[in-house]
Amino acid sequence: MRPNRMMYEPGGRRAGLLLLALLLPTLAVAEPLRVFASVAPLQVFVSMIGGDHVDARALVRQGFDPHAYDPTPQQIGALTKTALYVSAGLPFERAWMPRILSANPTMQVLHARDGIASRTLEAHDHGHRASDPHAIEDDQHGHTPPPALDTGSHDLAGAYETDPHVWVSPPLVRHMAGRIRDKLNELAPAHAAQFMRNHDAFIAQLDALDRELHALLDPLPNRRFMVFHPAWGYFADNYGLTQVPIEHEGKEPGARALAGLIDQARNEGIRLVFVQPQFDRRRALQVAKAINGTVVSIDPLAADYFDNMRRVGREIARALQP
Ligand SMILES: [Zn+2]
Repeated sequence: MRPNRMMYEPGGRRAGLLLLALLLPTLAVAEPLRVFASVAPLQVFVSMIGGDHVDARALVRQGFDPHAYDPTPQQIGALTKTALYVSAGLPFERAWMPRILSANPTMQVLHARDGIASRTLEAHDHGHRASDPHAIEDDQHGHTPPPALDTGSHDLAGAYETDPHVWVSPPLVRHMAGRIRDKLNELAPAHAAQFMRNHDAFIAQLDALDRELHALLDPLPNRRFMVFHPAWGYFADNYGLTQVPIEHEGKEPGARALAGLIDQARNEGIRLVFVQPQFDRRRALQVAKAINGTVVSIDPLAADYFDNMRRVGREIARALQP
């Protein structure tokens, strides 16, 4: 390497400034890729794969219910400067996406659930919108698609709704991670090698988490846990468990349904009822009280993905102890 002689010569200073001026546009291009994800866990995945080259934000802010979310005007403003949007296919996203895309037509959308066999929610509804082509695409896995109209009513609610909470299953996150990496490569090919390294490290963490959760949950004799909002279906599927939801088609159960759930909990020896911070816990407390049990909060939307999933695993293991 030889020193840059330009810098020591009278004209060198000017040449140096010229060089800097020429580099500035390059520096501007090198600013991180702006990404929005619908919920915090998806944002975490993008951040872990994108590293410094990506500025990822979550649309649904901490503590907000993602089933009925409205982006703030500031978020709408930020979305107009976003290169990529990672969608979980939640109803609020289906409602907002046309507006966001008309404000930012060049924004790319990655559907996190593409290529994942959707499961039907247990007696649960996320505000079904039959008009969404994506929702119908999701329905190709085993049942008849609903008529493609949006009457605004919830007549069809629950019947065809697929579970959007895909991020609670480490193997499904593994699948999503590959697609996020590929999309980042496409948008910022200069950093492909870094994305690959970050992706591989992320996958190693996911696999370790999955192994730990299997070791924790596989040996337990009880396999059913009770939860207010059924956000843990993909988790349950992956570990051979069943979630018993209190909510019925996105609504609180009536008196009869509640009595039935209490009977069921007693018969199955259920003592823990799971809630999540974004929902009212009154009904869950009612069930817990009737079975002489307790309510435990687990959060499917926490931003500390790995620690949170381990915490959830421990709590569910506790619920499944004989
Ligand atoms: Zn949910």
